[in-house]
Amino acid sequence: MTFSVHGLPVARGIAIGRAVLVASSRVDVAHYFIEPDQVEAEIERVRRGRNAVVDELQRLQHDMPKDAPPELTALLDVHLMLMQDETLTGGVKHWIKERLYNAEWALTTQLEMIARQFDEMEDEYLRERKADLEQVVERVLRHMKGAASPVVAALPRPRRQQDLLLEDTMDVPLVLVAHDLSPADMLQFKQSVFAGFVTDVGGRTSHTAIVARSLDIPAVVGARGASQLIRQDDWLIIDGDAGVVIVAPSPIILAEYGFKQRQGELERERLSRLRHTPAVTLDGQRIELLANIEMPEDAGGALKAGAVGVGLFRSEFLFMGRQGRLPDEDEQYLAYRRAVEGMEGLPVTIRTVDVGADKPLDETRHDDAHLNPALGLRAIRWSLADPAMFLTQLRAILRAAGHGQVHLLIPMLAHGSEIRQTLALLDQARAELDQRGMAYGPLKLGAMIEIPAAALTLKLFLKYFDFLSIGTNDLIQYTLAIDRADESVAHLYDPLHPAVLRLVADTISECNARGKHVSVCGEMAGDIGFTRLLLGMGLRSFSMHPAQILAVKQEVLRADTVKLRAWSERVLDAEDPAALLDAAAEARPPSARGHSLP
Ligand code: PEP
Ligand code: MG
Repeated sequence: MTFSVHGLPVARGIAIGRAVLVASSRVDVAHYFIEPDQVEAEIERVRRGRNAVVDELQRLQHDMPKDAPPELTALLDVHLMLMQDETLTGGVKHWIKERLYNAEWALTTQLEMIARQFDEMEDEYLRERKADLEQVVERVLRHMKGAASPVVAALPRPRRQQDLLLEDTMDVPLVLVAHDLSPADMLQFKQSVFAGFVTDVGGRTSHTAIVARSLDIPAVVGARGASQLIRQDDWLIIDGDAGVVIVAPSPIILAEYGFKQRQGELERERLSRLRHTPAVTLDGQRIELLANIEMPEDAGGALKAGAVGVGLFRSEFLFMGRQGRLPDEDEQYLAYRRAVEGMEGLPVTIRTVDVGADKPLDETRHDDAHLNPALGLRAIRWSLADPAMFLTQLRAILRAAGHGQVHLLIPMLAHGSEIRQTLALLDQARAELDQRGMAYGPLKLGAMIEIPAAALTLKLFLKYFDFLSIGTNDLIQYTLAIDRADESVAHLYDPLHPAVLRLVADTISECNARGKHVSVCGEMAGDIGFTRLLLGMGLRSFSMHPAQILAVKQEVLRADTVKLRAWSERVLDAEDPAALLDAAAEARPPSARGHSLP
């Protein structure tokens, strides 16, 4: 039966494919794809795990005291029977062979398939056997834990599209459905096989959503209950524009969305012709369109999309998912250098590490989370609390600056004392490199304006920094006291709140008046619903995911900043700015309409 689950749109477009559920078992289970030549070894691992459990159960049966309650003996029989059941063993083999799931993933997937069948049974006794099944599967998983294949376990990486195309059985696009995914998990899925993502939790500018957007595939987050309602292998349509997931669509709905999907592809093709067109408005204003990247390897994609530099390299992704072992100076230096060289002489803005809040270093550190992590030890606060770590990063960035134009960007500053400490550490990093006789290059120094306190004390920032970059994702979160990662308050996360617009507009105009370079690198910069407004406010530099650059460029080419200036002043003074934006969008031809975040 067709039904839909509603969430928040994250990345545009339509994806149609079969659901792959990342099951949430009580036993911690790794999910990764294996290579085809590892299929037999994975099946063997499951077999050994199962045999160990069968032995264990038979021993228990053998040692059972004569006066043991008959229910207990019956229960062991049931468990033994379940272990031999062909639906379980055959199903597990299916997921390993046909989908190349690792053994644990295959086992939990099949458990879920069977558990659903139990749920639907009329007979209460049989329905309750689900718990027995879960118990035996957990026993097998525990036995397998110590027996992970060393090669495979060390390689929890996604499969590439090319691998997929080699196999007929795997031609069906796959859509990942999970309760939640950390930004580091999401990053692992870069260039992976998945055609789309759905998660139960998350807000539109949560870091998981941001990484999903950088993958440039349709995604919906905050789709509450999706991972419960959707079954393994269900056909799904993800409408990334509307934030809707359609489950088990009828042929008519499938045809309709298939058509929409092709329209989207045509639109992309059309936009790709703008790649080499300079981003200049109708009244001759040159606009800088920069890329946000997460990894050095993203530089290629940024260039391909026509970016004229990197406006935000979120360096924290080099630090995440490493079980606390942080990258040393050389590893960081090589990574930054790869990004700089990848941009072929164009500027690269490297932001110092911004972990904390919804970007934990790794899963094991979750327990350390404080009550309000977004207000806690995050970004520059974390760096200043660990000067040795911060100095290592600063030295690595300074060294990379010897290979091209590097701008250094500091996140989440609010206090004069933080600025002064940062500058002192930067001097110290230079002195240490001098002492070692190591080469380094000049840097432009910038600060993120993402805490209202910073936007309201701009003079201080204008004094110390060469450029500013407005992080609207956090500026909105901290101005409105709305957790950007919490889907239950996502309706209140409003980029068009007059207070947010005022802080953004004043920051831009003060920078312009003082001749300081200013850009916006939050998600607002890549949303074509806001391009005209930001241009009207005087913004001339936008940094966004490469996938959004061409659509924003199209907006720029159609804009007249002289006319937009007066209009944006009206928007800023309006009680309901969103209404003015909607009215302006209505007045434009359909092909020129954007969509806005709220
Ligand atoms: C922002 O806050 O707008 C920003 C760009 O930084 P991040 O999303 O990484 O917090
Ligand atoms: Mg931020």
